[in-house]
Amino acid sequence: MQKKQTNFDVIVIGAGPAGFASAIRCAQLGLKTACIDNWRNKKNQSRLGGSHLNTGGVASMTLLESAKLYHQLNHEIAKHGIHAEAISIDIPLMMQRKEKVIEGISHKMSDLFAHHHIDHINAKARLLNTHEIEVVSNDTQIKSILNAKHIILASGSSPTKLPCAHIDNEFIIDSITALNLEAVPKKMAIIGAGVVGLELASIWNRLGAETILLEAQDNFLSLLDQQISGEAYRIYQHQGLDLRLGARVISAKKGNKKVTIEYQDQDGTHTLRVDKLIVACGRKPNTADLAAPEANLLLDDNGYVYVDDNCRTNLPSVYAIGDLTLLGPMLAHKGIEEGVFVAERIAGLHNPINYDNLPCVVYTEPEIAWVGQTEQALRSTGEAIKIGIYPLTATIRALAMDKTEGLVKIIAHAETDKILGVHIIGTQASELIAEAVIAMEFSASSEDLARTIHARPTLSESVHDAALVLKDSALHLSTRH
Ligand code: NAD
Repeated sequence: MQKKQTNFDVIVIGAGPAGFASAIRCAQLGLKTACIDNWRNKKNQSRLGGSHLNTGGVASMTLLESAKLYHQLNHEIAKHGIHAEAISIDIPLMMQRKEKVIEGISHKMSDLFAHHHIDHINAKARLLNTHEIEVVSNDTQIKSILNAKHIILASGSSPTKLPCAHIDNEFIIDSITALNLEAVPKKMAIIGAGVVGLELASIWNRLGAETILLEAQDNFLSLLDQQISGEAYRIYQHQGLDLRLGARVISAKKGNKKVTIEYQDQDGTHTLRVDKLIVACGRKPNTADLAAPEANLLLDDNGYVYVDDNCRTNLPSVYAIGDLTLLGPMLAHKGIEEGVFVAERIAGLHNPINYDNLPCVVYTEPEIAWVGQTEQALRSTGEAIKIGIYPLTATIRALAMDKTEGLVKIIAHAETDKILGVHIIGTQASELIAEAVIAMEFSASSEDLARTIHARPTLSESVHDAALVLKDSALHLSTRH
């Protein structure tokens, strides 16, 4: 019988986007690699992909596509002259489709691991010291020790709990269970109008749930360009989302198949009764039992792993990537880039990440996407800027699609014309932003974008047109916006 390998060049803990990418890149670079991950699906099968694939971004995106289709059939096709009757909804089947999509992706990931001869170990891992990891097998519960020259921590994050709203997984649920409901709740509330809360609201509201978002902050989507968040607020309200800002939830109790919520705003204390309450108020790094105390892995007060600019922890040859650190926001693509970066560093290469040029997306409909700096941030530092705004109501493709809500906003330096930020709200904004990311990666000016030929009719013309606005030469707008 072949002896199990226990010595590796690299061991990655976690097989989410960051850990998976890192393991693959290590193997591509000729490093003997293992990836330890303890994920089990509902059928108790081991699964790669972490929470992003299994219970987060991909799961959410898959359901949003179903919800958009249902909404279109009910509300949008009639004006195309198409009539459909007896449209009904089968949530268990919708969930099954989602699981199938996830399963397909997870199988492809397993095939890639096999192709690259990466050892996938389904177990709980704990860092013991700079080169040793304790592993408890999910199947046998047998403990063993693995060795590696380099260790990459990529154990991700999980939803934060709120002391005032205890999760019971039935009436008061977190964002994971909210992607696994078996029926559409008649009335639901969501604590937190951040990215997660809005993405969940976009799904369930489209499927027919009366949806109320309770957000403690007065400012809506405060990190976004304020013009875009203002536009988003208006569009979401118009879609029927009940957005209550400055509303801090102070208690939530279940009883008689309902949840009674108490929240405070500037007018006092209010009570709300709903069928389901979703808690979506942030995520925390999964570091609770990631390292033995004697490993002396340095964490900050909030449990994030301390790293330097090269994702190195305080322990030599131990790295941390993705949601575990405060280097950049909790985004799957940020984790992927860090995974690749660390693998290449271990192999002696140095290809730094440009954190300033990281695209961000809110996957609602319409989508919101941005890269670079906001108008308010630039004005606060006194930067001389100029702004080009193009509404989708003036974009031919958007008119043909009947998706004219939203705009493209380009901010450029007033003198050098260098693009400093691009902010989009509109259908397929997540795709449109890629052009801006590339332009900014090459330090493009707005004139570079304006002089680049864009196919007609496409949504990308709206980006081109926003650049033309900056030159006062937009062809399809009567006035400068
Ligand atoms: P968040 O911090 O963005 O939003 C949570 C909100 O909950 C905050 O605005 C906060 O004010 C509010 N809140 C907290 N306690 C409250 C209370 N008692 N009453 C009312 N409101 C309360 O967190 P999130 O939306 O859960 O996202 C978590 C992380 O995951 C973020 O870093 C996000 O960027 C990332 N993420 C990104 C994507 C994406 O890029 N599309 C998708 C999912 C998650």
